[in-house]
Amino acid sequence: LTAGAKCSGCGIALQMDAPELPGYLPAQALERTPLVCQRCFRIRNYNESSTVTVDQSEFLRLLSEVGTKDALVIHIVDLFDFQGSVISGLQRFVGNNPVILAVNKIDLLPKVTNWNKLRNWVQKEAKEIGLKTEEIILCSAKQNTGFERILEVVGEMRGNRDVYVVGATNVGKSTLINRLISDYSDLEEELTTSRYPGTTLDTVNIPLDDGHFIIDTPGIVYESRYTELVTKQDLAAIMPDKPLKPMVYQLNEGQTLFFGAMARFDYLEGGRQSFTCFINNGLKIHRTKLERADDLFADHAGVMLAPPTKEHLADLPEWTRHEFRVPRGSQYDLFISGLGWIKVNGDTGALAAIHLPKGVKVMMRPSLI
Ligand code: GDP
Repeated sequence: LTAGAKCSGCGIALQMDAPELPGYLPAQALERTPLVCQRCFRIRNYNESSTVTVDQSEFLRLLSEVGTKDALVIHIVDLFDFQGSVISGLQRFVGNNPVILAVNKIDLLPKVTNWNKLRNWVQKEAKEIGLKTEEIILCSAKQNTGFERILEVVGEMRGNRDVYVVGATNVGKSTLINRLISDYSDLEEELTTSRYPGTTLDTVNIPLDDGHFIIDTPGIVYESRYTELVTKQDLAAIMPDKPLKPMVYQLNEGQTLFFGAMARFDYLEGGRQSFTCFINNGLKIHRTKLERADDLFADHAGVMLAPPTKEHLADLPEWTRHEFRVPRGSQYDLFISGLGWIKVNGDTGALAAIHLPKGVKVMMRPSLI
């Protein structure tokens, strides 16, 4: 690949190192002339959008352009990682444009979930970060539920506007986009990749019959999500792919739970009570005494306490400890972005600590379920 080579489709600088970044050219595509990046190739030949990612600052530059336009915004988030995948600055950037919040992966919650209560929870959490939503749609790309409603709402609300689809990585955005493509494009018109002036971002534009577009933006990378830190293999261990089986633990003060070697939960004060772990069942939970926890980790991390395995443990940032005083009178989750959450069941309050690699988002929130 010659230095400075550009994709003949979208014009982006080509690179052969990172498949997930814009401009990727696989080795076997070097022979093609003219050169096109993998993304443009897929779009042209298969009418299929694939995910490219960008970091937050680049993404925010794109978003600020949305605010200057008359647009409808679909923000898709992952229910399993709600606070990790929601774009907290979104309202500031979209201006007065309406936002539809698509909450994906609802298939991961237990079947008995009270969906109205869940919808209220989402509404409150959105409000908490200052996001005004025109409509909240609970959906599952996997089960193909809720997508009809998204299409319906887009039809009702679009008017004479472009539709932007925005979201973090791994939330199911490509699945949604591909669905929109199959519904909207008669393939008479080609999908186009285009770059916005002043940014290095590429987006996929799906032409609508009135000259407007559905615009797929790159997936935003938040380094505060555990899913962005781990290897592909460990990602499979922490990302659930079937409904969560909540694990209940009766704990006394001074007991500790390890989630593989991904995180540690210390129960410090509050009397005997139960905690429910909403964590992928592929990740083994190990209970021990608080006073033994440091030694256990030193001796067994990467082997008995795994994943990550020994060789990958060192790739993660150093661990830090976060202490939480859970108030009495109401139910709370201790939430770890990308890994899940621990629900404090009692309403007597508790003092607890969570240890995990530095930078991973961890917070207390009102219980999801
Ligand atoms: P993107 O990165 O946002 O474009 O997301 P993808 O569509 O590539 O999906 C990311 C990951 O989430 C993949 O492993 C999907 O299988 C998974 N996924 C997407 N939608 C759902 C869903 O509704 N439920 C579940 N359980 N997994 C999903």
